Amino acid sequence: MAKNENKVNCSFCGRSVGAEIRVIAGMGAFICEDCVRAAYDIFDDIVKPPETAEIKVDLRKPKEIKKILDEYVIGQERAKVALSVAVYNHYQRILHPESDDGVEIQKSNILLVGPTGSGKTYLASTLAKILDVPFAIADATTLTEAGYVGEDVENILLKLIQAADFDVARAEKGIIYIDEIDKIARKSENVSITRDVSGEGVQQALLKILEGTVANVPPKGGRKHPGQEFIPIDTKNILFICGGSFDGIAQIVEKRIGGGSIGFGNKLKENLGHNTGATYAKLENHDISKYGLIPEIVGRLPILVTLDPLGREEMLDILTTPKNALVKQYQKLFGFDGVKLTFEQDALERIAELTVEKKTGARGLRSIIEDVMTDVMFEVPSMDNVSEVTITKASVDKTEKPKVS
Ligand code: ADP
Repeated sequence: MAKNENKVNCSFCGRSVGAEIRVIAGMGAFICEDCVRAAYDIFDDIVKPPETAEIKVDLRKPKEIKKILDEYVIGQERAKVALSVAVYNHYQRILHPESDDGVEIQKSNILLVGPTGSGKTYLASTLAKILDVPFAIADATTLTEAGYVGEDVENILLKLIQAADFDVARAEKGIIYIDEIDKIARKSENVSITRDVSGEGVQQALLKILEGTVANVPPKGGRKHPGQEFIPIDTKNILFICGGSFDGIAQIVEKRIGGGSIGFGNKLKENLGHNTGATYAKLENHDISKYGLIPEIVGRLPILVTLDPLGREEMLDILTTPKNALVKQYQKLFGFDGVKLTFEQDALERIAELTVEKKTGARGLRSIIEDVMTDVMFEVPSMDNVSEVTITKASVDKTEKPKVS
């Protein structure tokens, strides 16, 4: 590509261009840089990004991955094993791209299905942390709002590129978690979900990046426009984990298995939207397409991992055992003021019970604790001679204040 001193006419758009715009000279013809960009855009499916440097992923064995997941994520044994294996195989595949025997390992994106607040996002983000690869979270519902869905879908990739500090080669080995995938399902006669057919357009756009394509991402996000610079990114080695609660899917599972046989028969119809643990455990890919994800998308998410609703015992564990357990976090905060914070056992049990009642999953734990603690966190730092704060069951129930001594 050379800079022109004299003005020439671009043989494609016809305009006269000087030194400020680059042109390529051919056999008696010229093409200006804007026309090159436009051509690039048209043929984006065949233009490949530069070959990436060596692949570096902190790959651990499935058992090691599971062991680290155990430090953070309570319960969900089935999901932790399935994810550890899936992630290990995924990175084995990209670490060994060459094959002499013609056996090509196909990419296996993951579909996580489980109730709200059961740890879907948390599992995905913890995996990315363990492997030390860039990670981005996208919300499928935001994609439905755009008229031109293709561009928005590419913005998901932009988030990953940003997470990799614009190191595209690193981003190409990252993990993207797409939340609320169930909300872009087609309307199905079986389930009362309020979506129009546009869900299918979004699914088609998503399909392309799930399969693996070279997408052109506008570096500042937003809509594509002519003359804009793009970052090409190849999605073939990006691991996509999609998650959703698939409210009401129990009805489909029930229909397939036969009335009442798994114990949530007619009750379910009154209770639509509250799948039970039994629903999730019996789920098959076929049910997901019945629910309204197009078969091509279901085919691109071959690893179906289900999570269980969290019960009182798990909530109790989540409060105290993980590395960054909520109770440990609050104790640390109080520790900065030289105050020992204690939660009485029955207070913890009450918090766990209230959270289960709220049906928001473990996400609800923090808001309940915040509610109990706000006043005391406001008062204590300004009080003299406080060495201990105790959270009692009655203070969780708001019938008395936390004990300060
Ligand atoms: P969702 O399933 O809706 O994606 P999240 O993963 O966002 O739920 O969970 C919300 C928060 O609840 C997490 O950030 C985490 O702190 C906590 N949490 C949820 N499930 C678990 C779990 N199984 N073990 C430990 N913490 C959990």
